[in-house]
Amino acid sequence: MAKIKMANPIVEMDGDEMTRILWKMIKDELIYPFVDLNTEYYDLGLINRENTKDQVTIDSANATKKYKVAVKCATITPNKQRVEEYNLSEMWKSPNGTIRAILDGTVFRAPILIDSVKPVVKNWKKPITIARHAYGDVYKATEMRVTDLGKAELVFTDKNGVETRQTIYDFECGGVLQGQYNKDSSIVSFAHSCFKYAIDTKQDLWFSTKDTISKKYDQTFKLLFEDIYKREYKAKFDELGIEYFYTLIDDAVARVIRSEGGYIWACKNYDGDVMSDMVSTAFGSLAMMTSVLVSPEGNYEYEAAHGTVTRHYYKYLKGEETSTNPMATIYAWSGALRKRGEFDDNESLIDFANKLEEACIATLDDGIMTKDLVGLVEPGFKATAVNSLDFIKAIRTRLETKLN
Ligand code: NAP
Ligand code: MG
Repeated sequence: MAKIKMANPIVEMDGDEMTRILWKMIKDELIYPFVDLNTEYYDLGLINRENTKDQVTIDSANATKKYKVAVKCATITPNKQRVEEYNLSEMWKSPNGTIRAILDGTVFRAPILIDSVKPVVKNWKKPITIARHAYGDVYKATEMRVTDLGKAELVFTDKNGVETRQTIYDFECGGVLQGQYNKDSSIVSFAHSCFKYAIDTKQDLWFSTKDTISKKYDQTFKLLFEDIYKREYKAKFDELGIEYFYTLIDDAVARVIRSEGGYIWACKNYDGDVMSDMVSTAFGSLAMMTSVLVSPEGNYEYEAAHGTVTRHYYKYLKGEETSTNPMATIYAWSGALRKRGEFDDNESLIDFANKLEEACIATLDDGIMTKDLVGLVEPGFKATAVNSLDFIKAIRTRLETKLN
């Protein structure tokens, strides 16, 4: 069979530890044999970030703006221990943070569902994708602990020095206070990314805040979304038969639990932080959670939601067999290749991406799994734990059958 050609490259961001090992296995077994792979390669492994003074991360994000599609391996975010372990000259920032700041995007997280692992919430039949607005609010807040009597005020000084003042509270005892902000530009980007991704994946979009209580702050989120939707996206939503639906956060939580899934839930920063852990845990495993960063211009960076799986890597270095789940990383590749195919009208590349995912699901349906999933399957389902390479080879066999 002739290898599938790619007219334009995808940006390939290599990473660290166990996921770097999986990265190579996935390319060797599941991509190279079938696709004449065209990537612009950036090594975001910590050693190369150190060697390039982190310039490689910036370059890879700029390349994503140019080519519109990227696939990223998990990377180490250095802490004090990593600075010693890798003898770093600086505690380099999180690559995901750097990339997100350059692309100005929103992260969408969606689980991969299989029949043998049922979500904890019985009525969930389709994935629930969480979109978290990863900017501002309590994450950029200024806080104060006050122990004396006194008046707390909110003061805004405009560029001409004119002050607007509001009393927050007249303290008759000690207490706490906090100043939060967000920016229209960031909320607008968030909205565009959400509407674009809903159109892209043909799913309804839910958005929730607490605008009945937060009449200026949350209300602004609600109104900006509504306005952008009506002006730029409603026609397309109507054409696709999908819906934009705004509701209060507490109502959303109740509906989500009773729903069968199959939509995107856009959340403010804190809500997204909390809800994404709830939703991903209820769906089963972090190893089955995919992640895509979508910029307001429509650039896409695909990755797994999990980290570099350090504990498995140290076992691997000792020569021990590891059974690390490559599913989310394979889906990052299939997601990026499919998107490249869509941008370039490359039907065979889209078909390949679909079949790669089908081969993954078929392997799991046959009971061939990594260890993490064997512990989660329904009672009575016969599952065998294999190591990562054997799992990937089992996928390859099924992929070959599908492609022939
Ligand atoms: P992690 O790599 O996600 O792993 C935490 C634990 O979850 C693992 O020890 C393993 O549990 C389980 N797990 C995660 N992915 C798995 C998979 N694919 N297959 C099987 N089990 C899996 O998180 P971490 O250990 O907290 O972080 C390790 C490094 O990753 C850190 O340096 C962190 O900075 C980085 N990180 C990067 C990203 C990113 O690039 N997007 C995200 C998060 C963390 P068991 O050990 O019980 O088997
Ligand atoms: Mg969290």
